[in-house]
Amino acid sequence: MVPPSLFPADDCAYIGVALDLPMDRLFTYRVWGDERAQADVGHRVRVPFRGRTLTGFVAAREHGTPAFKVLDITEAPDDGATLTPDLITLGGFIARYYGCSLGEALAAMVPRGVRHKGKGRKRTRVTLTSTEAADAFEERSKLSAAAARVLRRLRVTPEGFLLTDLCRAAQVSPSPVHTLAKQGVASLTVERSVSDVLEEAAREAPKTEPLSLTPDQTVCVDTLWDAVEDKRFETFLLFGVTGSGKTEVYLQAIDRCVAGGRQAIVLVPEIALTPQTVRRFRGRFDRVAVLHSAMTDAERAAAWRRIRAGEADVVIGPRSAVFAPVPKLGLLVVDEEHEATFKQQSTPRYHARDVGIVRAKAAGAVVVLGSATPALESYRNAQAGRYTLLSLPDRIGGRSLPSVQVVDRGSEDERAFGKGHISRTLEIRIGEALKAKGQVILLQNRRGYATSVACERCGWLLECSNCDVTLTFHRHDGMARCHLCGHEDRMPQACPDCALPRPAMRGVGTQTVEEELGRRFPDATVARMDSDSMVSRDDYEDVLGRFGRGAIDILVGTQMIAKGLDFPNVVLVGIISADTALALPDFRSAERTFSLLAQVAGRAGRGDADGRVVVQTLMPDNPAITLAAEQDYPKFASSALEDREAFGYPPFRRLLRVTLRAKNQGPLDARAQETQRRIVAAATSETQILGPAVPPVPRVQGFYRRHLIVKAPGPREIAAVLQALRKAPRPKQGVEETWDVDPLGTL
Ligand code: ADP
Ligand code: ZN
Ligand code: ZN
Repeated sequence: MVPPSLFPADDCAYIGVALDLPMDRLFTYRVWGDERAQADVGHRVRVPFRGRTLTGFVAAREHGTPAFKVLDITEAPDDGATLTPDLITLGGFIARYYGCSLGEALAAMVPRGVRHKGKGRKRTRVTLTSTEAADAFEERSKLSAAAARVLRRLRVTPEGFLLTDLCRAAQVSPSPVHTLAKQGVASLTVERSVSDVLEEAAREAPKTEPLSLTPDQTVCVDTLWDAVEDKRFETFLLFGVTGSGKTEVYLQAIDRCVAGGRQAIVLVPEIALTPQTVRRFRGRFDRVAVLHSAMTDAERAAAWRRIRAGEADVVIGPRSAVFAPVPKLGLLVVDEEHEATFKQQSTPRYHARDVGIVRAKAAGAVVVLGSATPALESYRNAQAGRYTLLSLPDRIGGRSLPSVQVVDRGSEDERAFGKGHISRTLEIRIGEALKAKGQVILLQNRRGYATSVACERCGWLLECSNCDVTLTFHRHDGMARCHLCGHEDRMPQACPDCALPRPAMRGVGTQTVEEELGRRFPDATVARMDSDSMVSRDDYEDVLGRFGRGAIDILVGTQMIAKGLDFPNVVLVGIISADTALALPDFRSAERTFSLLAQVAGRAGRGDADGRVVVQTLMPDNPAITLAAEQDYPKFASSALEDREAFGYPPFRRLLRVTLRAKNQGPLDARAQETQRRIVAAATSETQILGPAVPPVPRVQGFYRRHLIVKAPGPREIAAVLQALRKAPRPKQGVEETWDVDPLGTL
């Protein structure tokens, strides 16, 4: 700070600063002399606020002299602006549309490493020093529950974990890990970063030439080129079956955008951000920046600066890459636009696709949304002419879509076949595939060994002590675990209520399937891919690498295996239970089920051999299943859209979901009633208000929950309700209230 006395009294300016606080206003501060250039709009500033120093962004210059006492800023540390004016405008949209302050929106847009420079997070690997050291330590001291969880994981994983992964997997803070290190049980080493590894993948990426396009691809690329050259905002829905060559269309459209001196952003679901994907883009373009959730703060800050300086032509990343500060956005691609990971699950709960369209509109840029199973909202927008539909109806190289067989698990034949989870049909198909030296992918969208543990005599259920859900039994370490909060219990030897020994295990998870395969196909090599077995990115790359080399015959996994994998030798895809998602009481259940089945079916038959798919279900007549089997998205979409219209769900109505949670139910219900009255007062007569009600999972992590669902004809009515909620005093007595505009679900 420059001492004010050095300057004449008029040598100061007032600025409006957006702070990361849930307060819907800018805060006025004063800057002096030369500091004014350092504290211009878009710059980062450090300011005093109620006895603390906070970092914020200058959002406006204020004119005139305020009528109240104004403090000086503490520091304006940067020469250049972090945010461009268009990003500040976009932050304003997010604040209004999703209901948060501008400061909160900007904080979600700018990576932490850029907001708070110099606090780089290191990549620390944790390994067990030796089993003996661990045994000795366990013998001489009483371990905390957290330390015990850490130790148990380290014992079974010789290569160790990244500290962040370990903390997440064991649900602990870093301190028990550091305690173990101090005791000589664990060792910590700092290692090479993921971006180094990705850089390496890039250097290895051989340069590729544009492919000569099929007639369908040519139509798409020509149409996109026209729009890109005209610098005309337009949103395209590229509806193309899996393997139809969508990525090649993106690459050639981006080429034209880059040649015209503008930049492209490519959003992909986190899980699709593999070296495989990155190599395809790096093979075509020299200046590609990759953003990744595993990057350290310092790496992310460096990438942000490069992008901001215009040194990257193409930016690839997950959801948050929609905020990449490219100077001239020309093209935005959202690949697999239907994916749920594009919606942020904390404040502000923005959807990267929708925010991206707003950004592109302001920039005069072209948007391409790509999917084999578009979100019903997007499909409807294309039908209504708001988006332009581009289609790639066929697979490249005349390959046919796999043939799908639906197996009714409830049929007499199947019931007679036995107790396992693999039907007679699926077993025969697996046998044939293995005999032909083909590979198999099996999907079971639940992890663990048994999804519930119950007493067969008295009906007792092993439940989480913090949440109203059953614990899932995991066989490898004999623990029962809550998939919502991570709570763990030992598996009881007998029912605690009636003492009947050996409680029954029900419900099939990936571990059950893995075990059954081991029994039925003892000669096959089986690998499992779910969030239990894939603790770090390296595990993921490792399994995919081995699968690609043919060292694995059967890959069993959760939805993790459904996306983007392109392995030509996969001749069979089996879906163990297509009903897992369908049973959920949510308006998107059918859409989710259809899309998951269609995506995973698309993994089969990508090479020369034809692909087969076997779908096991107890609901063989459900349209989400029969139409996924026929791979008829348009027919599914029209039937699902009819339902949405009849029941008043998106895209025909707009939703706002208000969720409240608290440890005590008294204040929770009182606040829920108050919120309901506020909504009623602000809502129009066409707006419907459901609740307050108890959500399907009434208690999570020890918090009781209530929710309200507002269904309105359009965004304006939702905005009015949000406005009223934002004006209300924050809840007290430990109640938390969150607002979710365009929620992905209502569970
Ligand atoms: P999608 O993104 O729709 O799943 P991809 O772009 O991955 O499809 O294409 C599937 C396969 O077809 C890839 O191996 C790709 O290299 C190849 N391919 C795409 N377009 C062409 C083309 N015009 N000529 C030859 N091969 C192509
Ligand atoms: Zn729990
Ligand atoms: Zn019992």
